Amino acid sequence: MSAGDGYHIVGGGIVGASIAYHLSERTDEPVHVYEKGTLANETTRKSFAFFGFYGDETQYRMKRYAIEQYNEFMKSPRASPGYVATGRLDVATTEDGADALRQTVETRGERLADARGKSADTSPVNYLSSDELPKSMFLPFLDTDVVVGGVYRPNVGYVRPCEFATEFIERARDNGVTFHERTTVTDLHVEDETLVGLSVDGEFEPAEAVVAAAGPWNQQVSQMAGVDIPVKHTLAPVLELEPSEPLAYTLPWITHHESGFTIRRNADGKIMMTHHPVGGYDDATEYDPDAWGETVPEEIRNRGLETLYTLLPEAESFDIVDERVGIRSSTPDMNPVVGWTRVRGFSIAAFSTSGIQLSPATGKIIAAQLLDDDPTSYYEGLSISRFDEYVDWR
Ligand SMILES: Cc1cc2nc3c(=O)[nH]c(=O)nc-3n(C[C@H](O)[C@H](O)[C@H](O)COP(=O)(O)OP(=O)(O)OC[C@H]3O[C@@H](n4cnc5c(N)ncnc54)[C@H](O)[C@@H]3O)c2cc1C
Repeated sequence: MSAGDGYHIVGGGIVGASIAYHLSERTDEPVHVYEKGTLANETTRKSFAFFGFYGDETQYRMKRYAIEQYNEFMKSPRASPGYVATGRLDVATTEDGADALRQTVETRGERLADARGKSADTSPVNYLSSDELPKSMFLPFLDTDVVVGGVYRPNVGYVRPCEFATEFIERARDNGVTFHERTTVTDLHVEDETLVGLSVDGEFEPAEAVVAAAGPWNQQVSQMAGVDIPVKHTLAPVLELEPSEPLAYTLPWITHHESGFTIRRNADGKIMMTHHPVGGYDDATEYDPDAWGETVPEEIRNRGLETLYTLLPEAESFDIVDERVGIRSSTPDMNPVVGWTRVRGFSIAAFSTSGIQLSPATGKIIAAQLLDDDPTSYYEGLSISRFDEYVDWR
């Protein structure tokens, strides 16, 4: 299928960059990316960028595609995408929390049996009781006395998100994509449920194919086309702490089951902490992403530090050297909303969490829909139609 006026992508984060790259690999028609700030400088820059096989079958398949693509990029990188293997340790500090964690491991066999014949993650996952934990893993800084139980997944690590975004951007540029920085899409124009153009910094341009990849601004952009997306927001506060001497040992990615705080030890020895509300979509709300500064709200900061000092008492002597606030998007089933909407010509790539892991497959899916009119085998798991916004023009 050809779009007479080319393909127009709103947002130059890792998702917009991947879509641009995948389109440009397959078409010679013009591809434009509009970024109101600078490339990969919003949610993508703030991301912890962990990579691991949690999530349902749709996410599992998307992540396998991502690993394959990222491995390919790492063979001859333009940027410095890195990968640090950490493993992931979810810890509970109450009996109830430990029970919940244990159940996720105990019921895993049934879930895998249900998934027989489908793609499913079979990499190892272990439940470790408080007795087992200090005998099973090197955890020099974790106060294992406060931990009642934990789940360990070895096959987890993190990458440099902006660098992978740069890989997409540079390769897309080579293919002829134009990235317009400091350029804002101010309106979308729809007639008879069909997209006819967009306004760029107030100037109308005809267009038959626009993709919103605007991170936490996706609600605003979709509403320009009259489309409501089932996406809410949660705050993603980040504190960065520095010990007087770099920590001599690595740590797994530690998440605290009861509070939703998570801790990462960077390769440079600093500690980063963020928070993910435990209620997910039910705890989510809508924020104006432009209204947030970079200061972590005091209540979250205090709760976070209390959790950190409980789990890693040594961190009490660390200095807070940086902080920022990202906005995560959240969908009811934790999967992103990707693909066509009921407005012909207007597509969406709106993330729950996990955009670093799922952006490669998102680019591939959007390209297949726009260029081949192929819904793809991901359609049921990702289409907005699973939330009643039926795509009735097809
Ligand atoms: C603290 C934190 C930790 C995270 N941890 C992980 C993790 O461990 N693993 C993982 O996979 N994911 C993680 N995520 C999520 C992941 O970072 C995001 O899903 C991903 O970065 C989203 O990318 P994006 O391109 O959709 O959004 P963004 O990077 O926000 O890019 C959207 C862009 O659109 C631009 N824009 C918006 N409106 C307009 C407009 N009208 N005109 C032009 N441009 C516009 C914005 O300026 C922005 O640059 C984390 C996120 C945060 C904040």
